[in-house]
Amino acid sequence: MPVYDYRCESCGNRFDELVSFSKSDSEIKCPKCNDKKSKRMLSAPSISTNGSSATPSNSCGAPSGFS
Ligand SMILES: [Zn+2]
Repeated sequence: MPVYDYRCESCGNRFDELVSFSKSDSEIKCPKCNDKKSKRMLSAPSISTNGSSATPSNSCGAPSGFS
């Protein structure tokens, strides 16, 4: 089951909620004030930029002081 980030519109509380597929957003209650005005936060999916094939082939020697 996916865990979503929610933010309460009433008190601004942020919380994680385990949401089953049969559960809708309107049923999510804020654990702090019990209001149902929680909005799901859009968390960006972790996409690796540029891919992993960007390994330079010209770095044969041991990198000294390369940070
Ligand atoms: Zn709240």
